[in-house]
Amino acid sequence: MPISNDFAERLSQSLESITEHYGTPFHLYDEKGIRNTGKGLIQAFAGIAQFREYFAVKALPNPAILKIMQNMGFGFDCSSSAELALSRQVGARGEQIMFTSNNTSAEEFTAAGADGGCILNLDDISLLDKVPQMPELICFRYNPGERRTGNSIIGNPVESKYGVAHDQLLDAYGKARQLGVRRFGLHTMLASNELNHAYMVETARMLLDRVTWLSEALGIEFEFINIGGGLGIPYRPEERPLDIASMGQEISDLFQVFKNHHGYAPRLYLESGRYMTGPHGVLVTRAINRKEIYRTYVGVDACMSSLMRPGMYGAYHHITVLGKDGEEETVDVVGSLCENNDKFAIQRPLPRMQDGDILYIHDTGAHGHAMGFNYNGKPRPKELLLREDDGVELIRREESLSDLLATLSYEPDLFNPG
Ligand SMILES: *Cc1c(COP(=O)(O)O)cnc(C)c1O
Repeated sequence: MPISNDFAERLSQSLESITEHYGTPFHLYDEKGIRNTGKGLIQAFAGIAQFREYFAVKALPNPAILKIMQNMGFGFDCSSSAELALSRQVGARGEQIMFTSNNTSAEEFTAAGADGGCILNLDDISLLDKVPQMPELICFRYNPGERRTGNSIIGNPVESKYGVAHDQLLDAYGKARQLGVRRFGLHTMLASNELNHAYMVETARMLLDRVTWLSEALGIEFEFINIGGGLGIPYRPEERPLDIASMGQEISDLFQVFKNHHGYAPRLYLESGRYMTGPHGVLVTRAINRKEIYRTYVGVDACMSSLMRPGMYGAYHHITVLGKDGEEETVDVVGSLCENNDKFAIQRPLPRMQDGDILYIHDTGAHGHAMGFNYNGKPRPKELLLREDDGVELIRREESLSDLLATLSYEPDLFNPG
């Protein structure tokens, strides 16, 4: 099932009045669902002495959401200066923040080091010479290339731009130690929307193997491994959810074996985005036009500025028409962009709709609003939080025309290079 029955039930009761109060379109996030998922994660990894989720800020960069994460004891995974600023705005400091950047600029290193710093996760060995002030704790992002640690589940990351190659890993940590680093972590991120928990278990196994190798070669201990994000959610009704309990149990077992062998075990970090918030958001929109040519098109008042995934990746997002489950017809649900991939659903059987009907698009709680863009001058919609006390709170206003035109107001700057 895409969104939970519980969330769907609450939407069926209150969504109509919420749309009357706020107007459409908007993303609505479910605090209760987010907290339940967070509790489930903590429970699944209770067998590991020190587990921490670093919420991937890019999935849902809204301070109201970050506060919920912080309240559950989670840290933040950031990959840009803006994400660092947002995390610090809600009060996160130092080792509550992990900075996992790629192709990092000097400005980003400065931002990472400011305000009490963060855990610096370096994407390449060459960056050791570019860190303005070497922190005492360093982590590298590992790219295993064709090394698949004896399993066929982990794909081929040879074409990925991320991380330190296998053959550079020993040098990377050796050099960091020479530069005065005394505390170490190891990170990787290989999965994306993965529903098979065995993949994540194999990733943990691989990192623990690397920790054993690096520790023996260099005589250093590792404080943590971070197995990245990429935990999947079932977007399609027929998909089964990730088995988080088995993932937790099997990884805990690996840690126990490691501990028996080495007398200590590193901490386990995770940096999920999608898994934490994806199913706990919906994009609510209203049907405004109906068009029957070679196909039937239902035009809605949201477009790709609110949700890029269907148009960009052909991603499936389930759709519910509020209060209707009668006879179905096959339609395309479309936005208003001059771009033919501005479609939320293609040839989808849905209850017959008419102008004014309210639809909600499931699973927009991660990589939804955040990925929106302004092509055609379409504003991004507001964001609402359905709080645990059943109240609704505006947590971001919609963009206005003056927001979109703001960068056209500037000091004249004419230059003649001749
Ligand atoms: C995008 C990203 C994540 C989160 O990915 P999800 O698929 O949302 O879990 C975590 N870590 C890094 C480094 C990322 O780039």
